[in-house]
Amino acid sequence: MATKTGADIQALPDDRKQELVTRFRLLLEKKYQKTLAKCAEGNPALDVDFSVLDKFSPEMADILLSEPEKIFEIAEEAVNQIYADLNIKVRFFNIPEDTNIRDLRSKHIGKFISVEGTVRRASEIRPEIMATMWECEDCGDVIRQPRKGAFISRPWQCSCGKKDFKQVGSEKIDSRWLTIEEPFELTEGDRPSQVTIFLSEDLVSPEGRRNSDPGNRLKITGVLRDVPRGKAYSVKLDFYLDANHVQPTEIGWAKLEITFLGGFQGHSKTGCI
Ligand SMILES: [Zn+2]
Repeated sequence: MATKTGADIQALPDDRKQELVTRFRLLLEKKYQKTLAKCAEGNPALDVDFSVLDKFSPEMADILLSEPEKIFEIAEEAVNQIYADLNIKVRFFNIPEDTNIRDLRSKHIGKFISVEGTVRRASEIRPEIMATMWECEDCGDVIRQPRKGAFISRPWQCSCGKKDFKQVGSEKIDSRWLTIEEPFELTEGDRPSQVTIFLSEDLVSPEGRRNSDPGNRLKITGVLRDVPRGKAYSVKLDFYLDANHVQPTEIGWAKLEITFLGGFQGHSKTGCI
């Protein structure tokens, strides 16, 4: 029997999915008309407040927390029905409870969670492969293989029964890896716990990059994913949070500016982003 993991959750039946897409579209039309119009003018992402979703459809809010990929797919399909071809990302923030970094456990894998912490390390922005394309050498069919954790793999078998493939392409996105550390008020003098964060697409835009630089304090929602620790087939796992939404709660340099300029008017902690 197949185990449920983030990447291969059982799909919703088609009619059920369409029902939820229609419902999500109704939410967008009722509550997010203006925000969507901004997306049409070039804003790459639509931020949806969890409490608004929860009020509108507690059922979809529950699915988002427990099987986030399903709602990501539904939300993006609903947006595409309104603005086809714009490729607008839907991002969710303000989920009811933060999870402390030190409390992250295996039960959180594949779930939609929120953590808060200060950026300690941030990588450069670099491309990463998200999927590879393989052509069957026998029938010419092309199979798309999403990556699994940090690894890419060949397809096992073509629908024609053959197993010989050559790689014919890949999908790449821009990404950045962060290490965030839990806020000092939680540590009670212990060594602070850390977690790795994966940012991609519009989250690494010039603004996203500034927001995620070391020293800033962030509230991040995303899906906790597991990767083998060390070798590909290791039984030991590590976590990272695949970020869906990033909200700075304190900007390192802005705080410094306030200190050095003696509370310069008009520069609030988050007002200078
Ligand atoms: Zn084939």
